[in-house]
Amino acid sequence: MNNKLNLEIGTKFGKWKIVSNRTKKISNITNWTCKCECGHEQFVPLNNLMNGSSTQCEFCSKKESGKKRRKGHKLISGDMWSQIKRKAEKKGIFFDLRIEEAWEQYVHQNGRCITNQKIYLSGYPYDKDKTTAVLVLSKPEDGFIKDNIMWVDTNIAKMKGDFTYGSLIMMVSSIYHSNCESNIVDLWESSDEWWNEKTID
Ligand SMILES: [Zn+2]
Repeated sequence: MNNKLNLEIGTKFGKWKIVSNRTKKISNITNWTCKCECGHEQFVPLNNLMNGSSTQCEFCSKKESGKKRRKGHKLISGDMWSQIKRKAEKKGIFFDLRIEEAWEQYVHQNGRCITNQKIYLSGYPYDKDKTTAVLVLSKPEDGFIKDNIMWVDTNIAKMKGDFTYGSLIMMVSSIYHSNCESNIVDLWESSDEWWNEKTID
């Protein structure tokens, strides 16, 4: 009796697809030539296919478990979020903010800084080099709460330090005025234009 189960080419087991009649015996178990949806091809033990313990290649399964473990939200990676939290904790800053709220704020700002330049979040996985958006507080003393946060460009965040945005703008305003021969302009109103001139998008 031929006890070799014949699988038809094209038969699917999850993401696996039988792509050849070529089989290989490994420790007395028949392995079939399978191709994963991602294109990866390898021999898979028949019993693993039949009982459903193998449904995709190791790369796809790693990717999937990575996604399940993901603590991030949209373009805010879990790693970035935990760093923000850890920093706040270290500095003793009050923190009662959900990652979704931080994302909503980014969307609300159209992914732009107060200078109107685009600011970037790397998404998953967290890539510091591709991230130019920094989450800062309007009023440092109020901590990370929904209506006290703002995404700004890395350089603006450095300039701001522990100042409130009001005092940062006042400061910039006086620098501007002391260097400016023209009449006093209301920087509160013209700040957008001023920033645009000074920043490269
Ligand atoms: Zn795969």
